[in-house]
Formats: sequence, structure tokens, C-alpha cells
Amino acid sequence: MRYSQYFIPTVKETPSDAEVISHKLMLRAGMIRKLAAGIYNYLPLGLRSIRKVEQIVREEMNRAGAIEMLMPAVQPAELWKESGRWDFYGKELLRFKDRKDAEFCMGPTHEEVITDLVRKEIRSYRQMPINLYQIQGKFRDEIRPRFGLMRGREFIMKDAYSFDVNEAGADVSYQKMYQAYRRIFERCGLRFRAVEADTGTIGGNYSHEFMVLADSGEDAIVSCSACEYAANMEKAQTRPAAAGEHADPRPMEKVVTPGQKSVEEIANFLSVPATQVVKTLILMADSEPVVALLRGDYDLNEIKLKNHLGCTELEMATDEVVFKVTGAPTGYAGPVNLPGKVKVVADLSLKGMHNFVVGANEKDAHLKNVNLDRDVKVEGFVDIRNVIAGDPCPRCESGKLEIWRGIEVGHVFKLGTKYSKALNASFLDADGKEQIIFMGCYGIGIGRTVAACIEQNHDENGIIFPIPIAPFQVIVSVLSAKEDEVKEAGEKIYQDLLQAGIEVLIDDRDERPGFKFKDADLIGIPLRIVVGAKNLVDGKVELKDRKTGEVEIIPVAEALEKVK
Ligand code: ATP
Ligand code: MG
Ligand code: MG
Ligand code: MG
Repeated sequence: MRYSQYFIPTVKETPSDAEVISHKLMLRAGMIRKLAAGIYNYLPLGLRSIRKVEQIVREEMNRAGAIEMLMPAVQPAELWKESGRWDFYGKELLRFKDRKDAEFCMGPTHEEVITDLVRKEIRSYRQMPINLYQIQGKFRDEIRPRFGLMRGREFIMKDAYSFDVNEAGADVSYQKMYQAYRRIFERCGLRFRAVEADTGTIGGNYSHEFMVLADSGEDAIVSCSACEYAANMEKAQTRPAAAGEHADPRPMEKVVTPGQKSVEEIANFLSVPATQVVKTLILMADSEPVVALLRGDYDLNEIKLKNHLGCTELEMATDEVVFKVTGAPTGYAGPVNLPGKVKVVADLSLKGMHNFVVGANEKDAHLKNVNLDRDVKVEGFVDIRNVIAGDPCPRCESGKLEIWRGIEVGHVFKLGTKYSKALNASFLDADGKEQIIFMGCYGIGIGRTVAACIEQNHDENGIIFPIPIAPFQVIVSVLSAKEDEVKEAGEKIYQDLLQAGIEVLIDDRDERPGFKFKDADLIGIPLRIVVGAKNLVDGKVELKDRKTGEVEIIPVAEALEKVK
């Protein structure tokens, strides 16, 4: 590819609306451009890296026996009603009607569509196991799209679905995907952890998230220094906070010790009637951001957070509300205002939280006018999971827990019969008996993987792509492109590399060397060959490694061998 005829609109200035480094660099390197919130154009350079990740994913999925297909982005509402998710999914599901008033949605995931296909086409145990996957654009109307491709609304995902005749088979399918995922992220050159994740109602250790380690990650994960144990913070098993630990310096009227508390107990403790129990969370942050997770079956649209003393962020996803308190050494989030219909708040798990107060110690910091039976039914609180670095490992008990920040790039999940039951996807076993199919689902965020890679591989000058996902492997920078001799030498090297099947970009622009070097560093091509008059006199060129900064002066004739 010739830089002069290509499309790489690099930018010197740091874009003001980008918070994390990968987002800044992807904009600056001309990889992506925003069309609308969470919706991006993939420019040529960005697309090349995306395709690299897709190819690695494809090869490893195929190696694991999965079969590629492609499903539509638009899905009929009926299927979602059949699975029960039409009502449950909330606003993240983008819904619309066609000209005949039929309801549709943009697919945020494809369990319904694939299960519908399989129930129609797979009838016999002989047709299983089977694993079908696609690499396809998803749409999720994220409340807070941000960080560029990291949390977009339209994004590319690889999603795979396995179908087995029984649970044992499903476990084998799961293991295959788990191993394939390890290979995929290793091949991408990422430092990652596969962590145990919550399975919600399904149970068992049958969900793993693949977390790329990065300070900018939105998730907290723990791992053991001695054994294999690694889990996301929600899943991590830990001790409750000791009394007085992380005590709030401000006077409290009453503090509930962490643990299982019923509404009655809380009411009793606060000396108020149960109907007046306010579901107010007060989160105390030390220097770390505090994140609380509230899970339940409620209408998320009804939930409002009164921004109160330093609560800076509120995110709502399908089934969770996340509060973040950042900044101040001691910050508070609260109260949570749950007006309208709140059916059940069944599970209140708080991650990274240091203390827990029910019932506010301040005027106005209450959830008001809540009628327990009418508006909210609190079924109890889950123990606070208070993981602190250095805690003993719950698995081996000898190691110590370490805490990391991570970016969820992949997720493998044993579904069991959740969707196959709801949609009645069954088969005839060897005895001619009808049985329900066992399923698993497995996702990878393609764009997020590229972004996560940049989070881990950059310096002050720009991106440092690992070779497997670099848009080009080599850039040939031709200095003084106007001088025939230099131009010809550059051209020769370029042609030789092309012939050898190396992905090469030749910077043939009529620009000053410093300008070209800045761009080359910014876009992060792993190897740079500099062709200039000075070295050419001796028949030599300069070879520079973007990562190590190492420079070698090598004979022109050796250039090809060196980069191969
Ligand atoms: P998150 O917890 O970050 O919201 P998720 O758990 O909702 O992600 P899954 O439903 O597990 O995501 O989807 C599989 C994969 O798709 C994720 O592991 C992630 O890599 C990717 N992904 C999910 N949401 C987005 C998004 N908004 N933008 C880009 N990639 C995403
Ligand atoms: Mg999500
Ligand atoms: Mg997640
Ligand atoms: Mg997930």
C-alpha cells in the first residue's frame, strides 16, 4: 500500500472527548471516526486490525470444530417474547416496527435466532454435537457508550453457540471453547486472565470471562499468587469486612454490620416501621473507586440516582445498576431512588465496597414514599464481598489474593437448557425418546480486543502493535522521495516485500523525515525500514524495531531476510 494514495488521517492533537489511551490513539492514528455516540466508522487501518483479530478467531474456532455461518442483525420480537427476554432486556434492546407495525429489534446477541434455527433443523442425536458461530455486527443501546470501540453501541462480536445431547457433552463443548479462547488471546499477544464469573441462576463454575489486564479496565478481578484461582470480583469468595474496618470518619447514627439482613431486622435496627425502611446505599470510598452492583428484576428506566456527594457515574445494563464513586478520599453514593414499579430486589451484591449503611444518616438521603408491598420487596441482602489485596486464597488457602483491573474481551457460558426449553428445541435420542438440547454460548468482542491490545501496547509516541494484529508488518519510509536513487531503492524493497507476501506500507509522501517518523510511530507498525541518501551511499538502509527502539544499519540486500 502507498501512503500517498491511502487513507490514514492522523491527528497531532489529543482528542478532547477521549478518556482512555486506546480511544485517543485509535482516533489519532486514523483508525476510527465517530458517526454518533457509540457508533464508528472503521477506517482502513482500523479495519485491517479488526480483520486480523477476526482471522485469528476464525482459525481457532474452526480448529475447535465450530462452523461459521451468518445470522441477520434484525430479529423479530416474537422470538424474544418466546424466550421471555422481550420484557426483561430493558432499554439496551433497540426496538422498532416495520411498515406493517410488526415489532423487531436489532440483535444484541443471537441465542433466540440460533435456537429457533436449530429447533427446526436438528431433530436427531446424530446431528450433535454441533457448534455454530458467526462474526457479526451487534447493537446494544448502552446507556453510556464510551472509550471508542471498547464500549460501543454498534460493535462486532464473534458469537458461537454449542448444542449437545446431554450435560456431559455440553461440558466437553465448553472446554473446547475455553481452550480456543486461551489460544486466541495468546495469539493476539495479550496479557490476560481467564476468570470465573457468576452464572446467575444456572449455577456451577460454568462461566469464564477473559480479562485483558489494564488499569483502564472497567472490571475488578482477583487472582491467587500461588494457585490457578482467578475470579471476577462479584464471584470472588471472601470474608466479610471486620467491624470498624474502613470506618466512615463522619458520624453515623446507626451502622448495619455487613451480613444477611432482612427488612424486618433493618427496620428493627433503625427503629422504624418496616414500611419506612429506606433502601439507601451509602458507599464509602477510600482512595479506590467504589463500585456497587444492584441486581434485580425492575424497570431500569424508572431508576434514578440522585447525584449526591461525589457519585459521579451511573450505568445501567440489562440486569444491573452500577454506581461508581471516584475521586474524593471519602465519597458517597446515594440514595438510590427507586420510584414506580420495583418488583423484587432479590440480590444486592456489592463489590469493592467497604461499608454498608441502610437508612440514611442525613435528611433527604432517603428513598421516599416507598410502600414495601406496593413498590418494593426486599428479599434480603447478600453478604458484602470485601476483597482486599493480600487476603488468603479461598481455593488453596496458602496463596494471597491479588487484585487487578481488567477488560472483558471474551465470555464463555454454559447455558444448559434455558433457551432450548423456552423455545422447545428438542431431539430424538438413540431410543427414539424426545429430549431437550443442552446449549452453551461464547462471545468475543472483536473491536474491544483491538482496543484492549492498544491499552497494553503503546508508548508516548503512539501505538506499538504486536505483529499478529498490526495493520501492516513493515513500513518503508522513503526519505527525500524526490531523489531518484532513493526513490528507486525504496521502491525495490517495497516490491520485494510485497512479493514475499509481507504486508507493507510505503511512505512515499513528499514530507520531511521527522513528519514521516512521527506518523510511523503513531500508527504503530512493528518494523520500519528507512531508506535515505546517507546510508544508501554504502548500499545500506536503517531497520528500526518499534517496540524496542533498536536500530540496525543493514545492507539493502538483507532487508527482506531481516523482516521475514
Ligand atoms: P460488558 O460487561 O462489558 O457490558 P457483556 O458481559 O455485556 O460486556 P457479553 O454479553 O458477554 O458482554 O458479550 C460478549 C463480548 O462482547 C464481551 O465479552 C465483550 O468483549 C463484547 N462486548 C459486549 N458489549 C460490548 C460493547 N458495548 N462494545 C464492544 N464490545 C462489547
Ligand atoms: Mg453489557
Ligand atoms: Mg460483562
Ligand atoms: Mg459478559
